[in-house]
Amino acid sequence: MYWADELASAVDGPQVVNDSKTPSGTVHVGSLRGPVVLDVITRALRDRGVPTTLLYGVDDMDPMDAQALLTPDAVEREMGRPLSQVPDQVGDCHASYARHHAQTFIDIFDGLGIRPDRYYWMSDIYPTGQMDPFIRTALDRAEVVRDLYRRVSKVERPAGWLPISAVCPTCGKVGTTLARDWDGATVAFECLPEYVTWASGCGTTGRIAPFGGAAKLPWNLEWAAQWSLFGVTIEPCGKDLATAGGSRDRSDAIAREVFDREPPRNLAYEFLNIGGRKMSTSKGRGPAAPEIVEVVPPEQLRLLFLRPRPNQAIEFDPDGTDAIPRVFDEFDRLAAAAAGQEVKGELPADADRIFRYALLDPAADLAAEAARYRPAFAHLALLAQIPGVDVAARVAAEKGSALSVEERRILVERLAAVGGWLDSYAPERARIEIRRDALPPEAAALGEDQRVWLGAFARAAETAPPPSGDAWQALIFEVATAAALPAGRAFGALYMAFLGRTNGPRAGWLLASLEPGFVVERLRAAAGWRDHADGASGGTGAHDTAEAAG
Ligand SMILES: [Zn+2]
Repeated sequence: MYWADELASAVDGPQVVNDSKTPSGTVHVGSLRGPVVLDVITRALRDRGVPTTLLYGVDDMDPMDAQALLTPDAVEREMGRPLSQVPDQVGDCHASYARHHAQTFIDIFDGLGIRPDRYYWMSDIYPTGQMDPFIRTALDRAEVVRDLYRRVSKVERPAGWLPISAVCPTCGKVGTTLARDWDGATVAFECLPEYVTWASGCGTTGRIAPFGGAAKLPWNLEWAAQWSLFGVTIEPCGKDLATAGGSRDRSDAIAREVFDREPPRNLAYEFLNIGGRKMSTSKGRGPAAPEIVEVVPPEQLRLLFLRPRPNQAIEFDPDGTDAIPRVFDEFDRLAAAAAGQEVKGELPADADRIFRYALLDPAADLAAEAARYRPAFAHLALLAQIPGVDVAARVAAEKGSALSVEERRILVERLAAVGGWLDSYAPERARIEIRRDALPPEAAALGEDQRVWLGAFARAAETAPPPSGDAWQALIFEVATAAALPAGRAFGALYMAFLGRTNGPRAGWLLASLEPGFVVERLRAAAGWRDHADGASGGTGAHDTAEAAG
């Protein structure tokens, strides 16, 4: 059974699915795995008729600790303040640093069809007093918290340490304060210049009532308090938090021993790994989520994350590879299988469920979606590079009928993806320049065996022009086998004849992107190249020399 359906079949009663995130800065594309996992679980539950609420929280009371993302003059003032209090550093577009980065992230997963029933912002929750009962309990049970940190995570807190961070009334920092002496109404606090390395407190001391937004719980307690406050029953988390003795274990223990509640069901998920090369976000390539969503449309991006089981790491290295085209090909294979067509290669178990969950609209008609005409990514990548091609007309001709509104939308989406891929990620071999006017001069290097083969191939292609890239590919192999020419030399001859180089994109699809008449003409010219050059004085044309070569 598909993993999310498995989980959905194991629960009883209404469910609350939750995740929350600290809006600390730019979002790596791998951060989208969590929201996709969350969404698929929610859809699986609802498919089984389980009443389900999906929540998404923004932990924007967490202190600012990323110096690199601040302007130099802001570092001293802003480091250590709650993210909700730090001004927007990117522009004046949002009310705070937290709102800017959280909204960017929320917009991205909204585009992926992930629509929580409710978003909550911790900077809104604290002032309402909803966290106060949990703050009081945590302070009353501070000894239990200290003991539990020691037992679960081997973290030693000093005697008198309290699980609360006051917001300094003088400098507004929350990351720099230390609290002690809970008297049932107030705590003593100090804002320390050297409490943490990344921020400097102002030295203020005093007593405050730690309620109504005047203080925040440390992260592990805040997490467990969210579970109680919202009645969370399922919360997946990244494997970095799910290690033994790690953050999740700590919060689970806090839920049980401090807030007297069973923690939600966990589903730990692995990372998405980007290949080692050119990983820097500053280059505007690779890992940043906003850039990836420019190139990989929502349904393909959903597929990338939901196809593997959560406990499997995802290797995704789009730079200079076919990783992006492969996601499209896999999507198309699943669509074809869902439409009842025969597909190449092994299908994943539950292929129909995977296809359904990849679709943007949870209520989509599976059969109708599966039946839509989707031109192959590699084919479009070639068509897009050949001057003068009316791609929409060409695709409609290949389909054999007019494209539906939905199919035109898919085509536009794919052409945008192709453009982004060619601009930023595609390997050199995928970039082509067809020299239409004349045979590339490099074709002089073709061997005699290759010329003979090109002539035979031209005749076969003229007799029965292959209708698709796959059919062209099959014909290349067929004629090469008949001529006893190694496939590598056959493909090399084609690349030389059309591109003037020794490699290129899949040759069958390259030929399929060109008009059959031009293909045959070029094959003949290449087959007879030497004769043509020798015969310049004799006036033989390409067509004649091809016949001579045959
Ligand atoms: Zn201070």
